[in-house]
Amino acid sequence: MLSPSGRQFTGRDHREPLRTALKKHGELGPRQTGGRLFPMACVSLEITQRCNLDCTLCYLSDRAELAKDVPLPILLARIDMVCQHYGAGTSLQISGGDPSLRKIEDLEALIRHIRLRGMRSCFMTNGIKATRAMLERLAAAGLDDLALHVDLTQERKGYDTEVSLNEVRDAYIQRAEGLGLRVLFNTTIFEGNFAELPDLVRFFRARADAITLISFQMQADTGRGVLRERDGEITQNSVTNAISEGMGLALDYDAVSVGHAHCNRYTSLLVSGGEVISPLTNRPLIEDAIAALDDLDEREEGNLDVRRTLRRIFIYRPRLALRLLAEAGKWVWQLRRGLIRSKGRASRMSILVHNFMDASKLEKSRCESCVFMVATENGPLSMCVHNAERDSHIFAPMRIETELGPRWWNAETGEMSEKPDAPVNIANEIIPRKRLKGRMKAEQLEMRSTVVKTRNRAGGDSK
Ligand code: SF4
Repeated sequence: MLSPSGRQFTGRDHREPLRTALKKHGELGPRQTGGRLFPMACVSLEITQRCNLDCTLCYLSDRAELAKDVPLPILLARIDMVCQHYGAGTSLQISGGDPSLRKIEDLEALIRHIRLRGMRSCFMTNGIKATRAMLERLAAAGLDDLALHVDLTQERKGYDTEVSLNEVRDAYIQRAEGLGLRVLFNTTIFEGNFAELPDLVRFFRARADAITLISFQMQADTGRGVLRERDGEITQNSVTNAISEGMGLALDYDAVSVGHAHCNRYTSLLVSGGEVISPLTNRPLIEDAIAALDDLDEREEGNLDVRRTLRRIFIYRPRLALRLLAEAGKWVWQLRRGLIRSKGRASRMSILVHNFMDASKLEKSRCESCVFMVATENGPLSMCVHNAERDSHIFAPMRIETELGPRWWNAETGEMSEKPDAPVNIANEIIPRKRLKGRMKAEQLEMRSTVVKTRNRAGGDSK
């Protein structure tokens, strides 16, 4: 294949599998970025199944806490595997459980290795143990993004409204200040906080200079959390409308597609001095720009280098470049008052609404065109599928290369053997009481309270 500049492409195009899947399922429209600008939006690397919280919508499994932490050499090999699949530029999310529970030296080694492979690292945490000192070390190791999960499903003591948690969010923003990290916030939307969504968005809007992405996950019936099915009022449309209300302007969530439309809704904002505008309003221009970026890309692997390719648009598509400049001029005009107030400073904030599927209602078309994968022993797997069948992946024997040849690591015992152990039926394993989480913990508390009530009643009757 030849590029417009006559360059011969020889490498493998990592975007092809996603592009083919999106095309197969009718999702490769002219504004689709998946499979064109990137081979995969994000890959999660779960480095521990332990967590210091017990979220009411936790996606981990009932027995996940029985799994030992995956050894570092296996994780490093998984980073290489992700790079082979999706190439440089891919965003690798270091997650768990909560990854801050692992040794700082392991975290630094992972971040360095991700950087060595030319990928982006994102540290996804509830922030409780992510101290300033830890963030400084992670930033020094080359961390790119810090994703902070804060919401009411975590039942943090002393916070009973979503908006009251803004105090925690502000403290976290301060903690990361000056470290050169992009800060992202994740919020699970469920019936307990849905009514507060516009107010929460107003908070994010006021801090657009410090936050790069706000991501909202809609409640799903998966994992071990005590909350299950979503309230019928919470739909992709009702969530995006509430976000628009909070931002104070009608946002277009169809101007750019990121993967399957039933999975992700994306939009972007420009903010300056309190003024907010949506740069994604000119759909014909967006379509032409995406086509040109895809066409003019000269990387042989991994994510498209958008900045570099934009420069190439000026050389190979001068008319399109002029249209883009005119559009940018329109943004400057719309933001003029804010730009004056902020002495020319403006920030871009992205918004993502992520619609995870219920474990019992996986849709083949969405799983096949998934843009949010988990790195497993057997390669990348759709996050929804992984959540639905988690135990079979986290307790699968894991291959590890040693000086003595390949060995197999057992997640339940933490031991290594020369041959893979037969799979353990983890569903029959007893969980120690202090490691119970989610539904199983709630059930046990319920049983204990019934026993106490029955005893008290019996005691009363016998008096
Ligand atoms: S994780 Fe699930 S909801 Fe998200 S993109 Fe993949 S299939 Fe869709």
